[in-house]
Amino acid sequence: MSECSNVIIIGSGPAGWTAAIYAARANLAPVLFEGPQPGGQLTITTDVENYPGFPEGIMGPELMQRFRAQAARFGTQIHSEAVTEVVLGAGAPFTVRTAERTLQARTIIISTGASAKLLNLPDEGAFMGHGLSACATCDGFFFRNKHVFVVGGGDSAAEEANFLTRYASKVTLVHRRDALRASKIMQDRAMANPKISARWNSEIVAYLGTPGQRLRGARMRDTVTGAIEEVSVDGIFLAIGHVPTTELFRGQLPLDSKGYLVTTAGRTATQIPGVFACGDVQDSYYRQAVTAAGSGCMAALEAERFLEAAGH
Ligand code: NAP
Repeated sequence: MSECSNVIIIGSGPAGWTAAIYAARANLAPVLFEGPQPGGQLTITTDVENYPGFPEGIMGPELMQRFRAQAARFGTQIHSEAVTEVVLGAGAPFTVRTAERTLQARTIIISTGASAKLLNLPDEGAFMGHGLSACATCDGFFFRNKHVFVVGGGDSAAEEANFLTRYASKVTLVHRRDALRASKIMQDRAMANPKISARWNSEIVAYLGTPGQRLRGARMRDTVTGAIEEVSVDGIFLAIGHVPTTELFRGQLPLDSKGYLVTTAGRTATQIPGVFACGDVQDSYYRQAVTAAGSGCMAALEAERFLEAAGH
């Protein structure tokens, strides 16, 4: 067992790296575990045009490289490993294990993020950013005057369909049943929009096009008759829900009804003193890179004050 670190940060999206930058600059010598998808969700998008400070836009992976370099510059100890176990118990010191090491810390910052639910079809990863997206806010702009599908029947699908009509000439909601689960107001808004139509009882069984280059359509199955049809479309947006990455904390920290970590209102503190959570793992509402980064800053400041109050 090594000595006790001041701060261990778990996760390397905008929240984790921002927490590391602030903790490192506060001389807390943070240790950060990058996790199984270094850089997080932004590494599966292409152009990021809404992150302030980059008026010409920046590619998602490059933006995350810059976050990482800034955290490293101030002395963050970075481990490119996935955490396999966290023991929070009743309070510090906390134990964090990976396949290669076991560390202890006085505070933990959880920034494990969330991931969009995908359909798990062949070549899904290769089509991401090339006609396939799970984020209308990020990628809608690239579908000006195009026809796009939005898959899902919940509030996210209705909201994304409405949002996409700002750009797309035609939006088809693709839902596996014949009734949306979205709230009435969201349904009414979507159905009243002349650019939106619905394709009921329909599911995508394959993506068509050249993986890694361009999606050109989808093979669809009628969920009632089983009939198969190939349909041309310029883009497909998946809006079938998000899953926060909370397995490491299940049974140790409370989750809300949607499975997100619970933090004190307006703060990043969890129920366990010294454990903080920031970014998408505790935010089902904004889910933006800039809000995640902001909450990472908050978590580092809260950890710093916690350590100070505890005499460290
Ligand atoms: P959701 O309510 O869980 O809806 C997911 C939708 O995707 C459902 O219609 C579901 O179909 C479909 N789906 C799930 N897995 C699928 C699969 N493998 N293949 C095809 N379709 C699949 O998720 P959400 O829409 O992201 O909403 C999550 C929460 O956030 C909800 O509580 C929602 O109210 C809230 N939210 C609110 C707002 C707002 O108020 N502005 C906006 C967005 C989200 P079935 O219906 O057949 O299950």
